[in-house]
Order: sequence, then C-alpha cells, then structure tokens
Amino acid sequence: MKNVFSIAAAASLFTMTISGCTDETVSSQSIDQNVNQWTIDGQRDLANALNQQPINKRAKNVIFFIGDGMGITTQTAARILEGQLNGQDGEENLLSFETLPYTALVKTYTTNHQVSDSAGTATAFHTGVKTKSGVIGLSEFADYGVCEGQAEHEVTSLLKMAEDRGMATGLVSTARITHASPAAAYAHAASRGWETDTDMQPADIEMGCVDIARQLIEFSHGDGVDVILGGGRRGFLPNTVTDPEYPDQKGRREDGRDLVAQWQAAGGQFVWNEQQLRNAPKDQPLLGLFEPSHMQFEVDRQLDNGGEPSLTEMTATAISRLEGSEEGYYLFIEAGRIDHAHHYNNAFRALHDAVEMSRAVAQAMAMTSEEDTLIVVSADHSHSFALAGYPAKGNGVFDWVRGTDEHGHPNDEVTLAEDGQPYTMLGYTTGVIVDRDEIFGEQDPADPNFRQGARIPSRGEHHGGEDVVVMARGPMAHAFHGFVEQTFLHHAMAHALGIQQ
Ligand SMILES: [Zn+2]
Repeated sequence: MKNVFSIAAAASLFTMTISGCTDETVSSQSIDQNVNQWTIDGQRDLANALNQQPINKRAKNVIFFIGDGMGITTQTAARILEGQLNGQDGEENLLSFETLPYTALVKTYTTNHQVSDSAGTATAFHTGVKTKSGVIGLSEFADYGVCEGQAEHEVTSLLKMAEDRGMATGLVSTARITHASPAAAYAHAASRGWETDTDMQPADIEMGCVDIARQLIEFSHGDGVDVILGGGRRGFLPNTVTDPEYPDQKGRREDGRDLVAQWQAAGGQFVWNEQQLRNAPKDQPLLGLFEPSHMQFEVDRQLDNGGEPSLTEMTATAISRLEGSEEGYYLFIEAGRIDHAHHYNNAFRALHDAVEMSRAVAQAMAMTSEEDTLIVVSADHSHSFALAGYPAKGNGVFDWVRGTDEHGHPNDEVTLAEDGQPYTMLGYTTGVIVDRDEIFGEQDPADPNFRQGARIPSRGEHHGGEDVVVMARGPMAHAFHGFVEQTFLHHAMAHALGIQQ
C-alpha cells in the first residue's frame, strides 16, 4: 500500500509541475506512465531541445575531431563500453561528443568509390572538394598515383586558409602525422602512399613532386603549423640516423634530409616522449613525434618504452599552446587508430581508442567556451562492423551473447546460434574467418587480443560505406543538420570562421 500511495503522490506532483501545457495528455496516461523515469527524462530532454538557441555569430576558434573509422556502430559499442567501465549497464551512456547539441549524417563516398578510404574523405572534409580514393589535396581530375600535372588540381585546406589569415594552427593524430587524414590538411599528393621520399618513384621526385613529410616541414602558409603532435618519426629522419627511442631502428629517408634538424634550425622545438612534451617551452612552434610509425593503441600505451602522451594529453597541450592567439586558432585532432584495430578485426583496441577520443573531446569541451569556439566531431568513414544477436541489456560488450528467459528477464545463459555455437554481439562482415567451435572455452572474447570473426575472408577487414555522424557545438554549429556531403564540413567550418570562398 505504501508503494501505491507514494506513486500516486509523485504522480500528482508531476501533474502539477507540468500543468498548463499538457493537461490533456497527462490525464490520458496511467500513473505508471506519469511517474515513469522514461517520461520524466523525455520531458526534460524535450525542454532542453526546445530551449536550444543557435549561437549565430563568428567563431574565434575551431577544433575539428575525426575518429578514423568511427562509424555509428563503433560509436554505439564504445558508448556501451564506456558506460560499463563506469559501472553501468552501458546502453544509457552518452560519449562526450554525443552530448553536443547539433548533429547531421554525412555521406562519405568518394568520386570513384561507394565505400571510401581515408585520403579521399580527408580531402573532402579538409578542402570542401570530393576526390578519388587515395588522393591527398587534389581534385578528382588528378589521376591517382600520377605526379605529372597534379599541381593543376591542387585544392586548398581550411588549415592553409587559417594560416593565411594569421590564425594559429595545430595538427594532432595518434597515427603517423603523414598518414592520410592529417596529410590532406597540409599536403598535395597523387598518392597517399608518398609519405617519405623512399615511398616515391625517382622519376616523380625529379618531376618536382614532394613527399608528404617534407611538405609538412616546408609548409609555407602563414608562419607554418604551430603545434604538430603524432607518430611517424621515421619519415622525418634519414636512413643513416638512429631513432632516439629504438636503438635498432633508423630513419627512412633516402635523400639525406633530416627534417627534424630542419624544423629545429627554423626555430622549432622537437620532442619525442611524454616527459619532453610536458617540459617543452611554450614560446616556440612544437613538433612532437612519439613513435617511428603509428603511436600505440590506448590500451598498450603504458607499455611504451619512451613514454607516450594520450590523445587527451595531446589535445590539452595543443589547446593550451594555441589559446593565447589573438587571431584565434584552428586545431585538427584525429583518433587515428580506431581504424587500424578494426582492420585487424580487433574490436577491443578499436573501442578503447574510441573511448579515449571521448575523453579527449571532453577535455576540449572543458577548456573552451561554446561562445567563441566551434567544436566539430565526426568520422571519415565506417567499418564492416556490426552489433547483433539480442544480448540482454547490460551484457558485457565483448562477451558471448547471453539472452533473456521466456518472461524477458536476463538469464545469464549463453545463447547458441543455429550451428549450436556461441557468438559475440560484435562482429565483422569482412576480415579474418574465426572457427567459433574451436575458440569457445579456449578464448575469452573480452581478451584484448580477441579477434571477432568475419563472414567474408579478406586480408584486412574492410571499411563500411554507410553514413557517419557529425556533431557540433558553438558558433554556427546549427549549420550541422540533415544529411550532408562530407565536403559540407569544410564549408560550414570556414563560414563559422568568417572565411569567404
Ligand atoms: Zn582504414
């Protein structure tokens, strides 16, 4: 009885608080529905949505995050993982960037592929012009891999436009900083593979095409990029120079150029580990290259010999170095390795890197005001990654699927597929084929090295072609709504900064 009374009391209280606007609706609802938490939360979210006011003025700063390969299924699974890491069931959680007030869906195809790669997509969102897959900073009229004539098809990125206007700029990635997504911010290359001179044909170098690492160090717009943090050190060092972190490794360049020395000679700081990053003086441009190739996955970072900063720490460092700029700043930040773990059918590392990206965006949100800083968060493309199989709510995101009993209550029993074998909610369409019969009882699906099986064998799991999300807050964030081409991201960010095209 006590329970019934308290529900009735709560119901009358609830009716009072919203009376005057929805009296009729309320009277047609049961007491259960009136006091139901979903109703209360839904009414709160509706009020917030109706109160959302666009910030219709110029942005001083833009911070643009990309999760490489962070499709919607990756976002949903990472959201559940983050919730479970915080002791919840997980499904109700929102990643930091999922709380941003404006969203749109983004069409990611390139001019020659339904399912895109990271070079074509990066050119689209950095320059506002779609192009062929594999091409960096050139329009679709350039031929992939062909140096001759490429200069006629160069397209200009927002980073260059920002430098030309005297803004401070930064580039951050956990991948090689010469990898496709950051490269399209500063380079032009008919092939994304041209990361160093060693990766190019001698004839193309003779013809005047320049490798991507050299284009970054010799970037001539404004006063050059002010903060560069990522991986890919080997592309900047000659093959005669020993790597500072790995005594058994050398640089990769054949042309004898030491691009790190070139950067320092021009007045820039160079760091290659976390401690040096923390001690770097703030009054000089900063180049931080923390691995010869890609940086570590977030879950492996603590094992790194030299000590590596997290994406969150790099985000905080970059903002703190740029925020003093009178002219404002443009900062591009990539969680570059969600993609790499997916290519290996390893959801564990992909999702933990996505959760780390959630922390990095939270850091950027905390360090900036929506009154002057536009934050945009998106992905370049998706993966052939699926969540399926009716696991009970709260089922461990990596676990075998466990379902519900005949009354709908979780029963903790492993669900078997038609072939009599257990399965995980997470899976891939393409990649490595896994014999589930062999691994059940042998492998823990929550193990960091567990590989979720695929339906179609392929060397490296494939990208997915469905839309990705873009989420935004701050000045002109309300431009992001509906279904947009990926090129729209560039145009909306440039408009927010007042850059005319
Ligand atoms: Zn990829």
